[in-house]
Amino acid sequence: MKSVKLSTIALLYVCASGAVHAQEKVLNLYSARHYQTDEALYSDFTKQTGIKINRIEAGENELLERIKNEGANSPADVFLTVDAARLAKADELNLFGKVNSKLLEARIPAHLRTEEWIAFSTRARLIVYNKQAVAPADVQNYEDLANPKLAGKVCVRSGSHPYNLSLGASLLDRLGENKTEAWAKGLVANFARAPKGGDTDQIKSVAAGECGVAIANSYYLARMLRSTKPEDKKVMESIGVVWPNQKTSGAHINVSGGGMLRHAPNKLAAVKFLEYLASDQAQVYFADGNNEWPVVATVKPQNPALEALGKYKAETINVGTLGKLQARVQKIYDRAGWK
Ligand code: FE
Repeated sequence: MKSVKLSTIALLYVCASGAVHAQEKVLNLYSARHYQTDEALYSDFTKQTGIKINRIEAGENELLERIKNEGANSPADVFLTVDAARLAKADELNLFGKVNSKLLEARIPAHLRTEEWIAFSTRARLIVYNKQAVAPADVQNYEDLANPKLAGKVCVRSGSHPYNLSLGASLLDRLGENKTEAWAKGLVANFARAPKGGDTDQIKSVAAGECGVAIANSYYLARMLRSTKPEDKKVMESIGVVWPNQKTSGAHINVSGGGMLRHAPNKLAAVKFLEYLASDQAQVYFADGNNEWPVVATVKPQNPALEALGKYKAETINVGTLGKLQARVQKIYDRAGWK
């Protein structure tokens, strides 16, 4: 009897470990990224690990809704998206699980990760100005954009957009509530027109002279720098680009990133994938997909447009803080009338 029991246990053990093994050979990835370089990124991971990636790509809100609705039965192992605000939203919905990885701790700077999610590339929020209309000395800091000297010259997208909320979160953390509200009011008072369009529209409006100065993410500028279209070249010739706050806090940095989901059925594969994203090769693919910077310090971007944008000082506020302060920033912007 005893030997039968033992062999039954042994058999069960083989089955269980076989099942675990089979489970780890796939990774279900929910991604709000849609870049060409991502193909190489994913196939390289499968080549290295034998883990096949099932990918579901959709808009971030749609994916978040889906993961939430799937609940404990969700097949999603990893969620990837852009912007600290959106990553923070997933965290607020309690969708992420904690990842313990010495490798990630060693390779990703502490301010670019939280316990729940990790940044894998960075983008900066830059100031662009019309060379004919504005002196660069007047627009060296985000704070300068609220100076009455720039009345009628500032263009910016909606105050409720995550990019501007993240920038406000950085100011709120650094300057406090009163000064951030005064800044937002000054900025609104300087508007050339009501906020509309995306960052690229602001850049084009600056080049066209409709606005003297605007705020835009670095990858939109990098994209234009790489463009061979004559109209884009003309835009870049008409504008100057400022790395803001270089003598103080550094340029505001936002991120792309992701995390392992709390109900991930393939947790080992999920951690392996996140660790892979921090590898030298993957860092180049991941960042280059959207003309961003790698987060691993030893990895050099191989992107001529980023080189053309030059070296800069970046802020070191924790990305988790950026996400958490968004709600307070939205209230400040509402009071300031930044629609
Ligand atoms: Fe964008």
